[in-house]
Amino acid sequence: MEKYSIRGLVGRLCEPDIPIFPLETELNLPNQRVINIDVLRTRSDLFKPNEKILLEQLLTYYCKTEKVTYKQGMNEILAPFLLLNRHNVPLHICYTCFKNFVAKFIPTLFVDDAFKPLSGLYIVTQLILKYHLPDLSTCFNNNEITPDIYMTTWYVTMFSSKIKEIGLLYIFWQYLIDTNDNLFIIYFGIALFEFFKQEIQSQEVMSLPNVFKKIFIGDYDTLQIVLQNSERIKANMPITADMILKKYNMFCLENTESFVKVLEKFTCLLILPREIIMQTYPHNVVCKCLDPRNCKTKRLKYLLIDCRPIKEQKNGYFINSHLLSKGAQKYPNKLLNYPKNFAILKKSTHIALMSSEENKDEENFVQKLFDSFIQHEFPYVSIVSGGYKSCHEFALLHSLEILSHKTKRCLACNNCNDPEKKTTESTLDNFFRIGNIQKTLIPIIKYDFTPTDKIYKCKINESQDIEESEFGLIVTEKQIYLYNIRRKEVIEIFDINQLTKIASNKTCPEYFSFTFSAEMPKRAFILRPEECKEFLIKVRNYFQALRNKNSSEIKLIE
Ligand SMILES: [Zn+2]
Ligand SMILES: [Zn+2]
Repeated sequence: MEKYSIRGLVGRLCEPDIPIFPLETELNLPNQRVINIDVLRTRSDLFKPNEKILLEQLLTYYCKTEKVTYKQGMNEILAPFLLLNRHNVPLHICYTCFKNFVAKFIPTLFVDDAFKPLSGLYIVTQLILKYHLPDLSTCFNNNEITPDIYMTTWYVTMFSSKIKEIGLLYIFWQYLIDTNDNLFIIYFGIALFEFFKQEIQSQEVMSLPNVFKKIFIGDYDTLQIVLQNSERIKANMPITADMILKKYNMFCLENTESFVKVLEKFTCLLILPREIIMQTYPHNVVCKCLDPRNCKTKRLKYLLIDCRPIKEQKNGYFINSHLLSKGAQKYPNKLLNYPKNFAILKKSTHIALMSSEENKDEENFVQKLFDSFIQHEFPYVSIVSGGYKSCHEFALLHSLEILSHKTKRCLACNNCNDPEKKTTESTLDNFFRIGNIQKTLIPIIKYDFTPTDKIYKCKINESQDIEESEFGLIVTEKQIYLYNIRRKEVIEIFDINQLTKIASNKTCPEYFSFTFSAEMPKRAFILRPEECKEFLIKVRNYFQALRNKNSSEIKLIE
């Protein structure tokens, strides 16, 4: 871990040499008094009187220009940035760093008067805590210690209240920015708990809220250990679970409530079929790399426990999976003690539980077995989203062997025949289908592309791996074709002269949305990052050539 440098921190948050702008403003907000009182309390040992005036002024300026009401927390985040001024960082740069820092990590937290995003982050925190520190999670649950009690300060002060020494805080913030991971704040908070676990567990439950208040990082060594623990927690997150949680961006205020509703139904982290199958099937079957020891595909050690009823297991099961025994299915007491069979794997292996399919209550042992694992304080236990049905589909799609597969009797095979009923990675599709493909293929007779035209591989679903996608875009002088590479079929044609706009997403530049002038719905595609520019230039050139003939407007944003 590097020691901080002022220039390093500033450089990460603000363009160098941005022109100076005036920060003066009248101190006349309706709740100016609250700001004034908070300013007096903010790092009062550190601030000189003239700096306190500046702090109030910048807070007021921020609220006015960003059109937000002042909220406690802003002061704690702004203060350390203001102190950069002592190191010859101009005031407008200090301010811009603060503003950009907030925009990066908690973009709408201060916008919403009810701190709505926090309600979602509470659930996410609980899920991650349960995965990594089930004992603490159970202790909190049993004693009604909800995340709002301990977690609010993590976000509203960005740990400024937990890391009092300003140099340490700069190191942490710089580190945080470099992770470029918006779940890292949660990993860090959980790592902090892990560090103080004994202290937490030795206290009376009643006094826990006070214990939380006293947890802070006071020296460099502690910070270093907690950061290392955070990295370990991060490394032990299933990739697809991390992906699912990130899809629910709580700072997207118009979606926060619906996201919260979805996440409230999660009892634990969900992982996607592709992860469990890739991690449990033999290396040579799922990966082409030649160095299994340093393989990037094989990341975590996994055990899949197949919790389907025995009669379903008989009609096919996955390689390297453990079949939940008949006894455990029959006797609740055996199910309760079932985790004892895996004592040797505790803390070293990730355990994924799979049911027949999602949301099927009868004969569903998954939830009960999950609870048993948590009771036995096993970390790293998750449930496979979509259950056997989705895993089965994934395996068939990638021609992976299913053992003892009796296709005539297999429930999944016989439910799959109707393509309308397909359940593919449903968790993501509920909210995040970004491109719609017309289901019926339009017979297309005339194509003007040739077999040598470049195909820009693309995906239409964010959750998909682009290299596994079947789709590509072909650009010709007049048209863009959506092409199924595997089936060698054209799926849709877009006329370039009908285009009015191609926008690429700020946070994800490879995400393109196409807007057309005619009554065509918007289309969205995700390209390979390295091919975006080339693709865009090609479309723009052809468009401009066409525009010379007709006069419509196009806005192409790079
Ligand atoms: Zn490999
Ligand atoms: Zn089958």
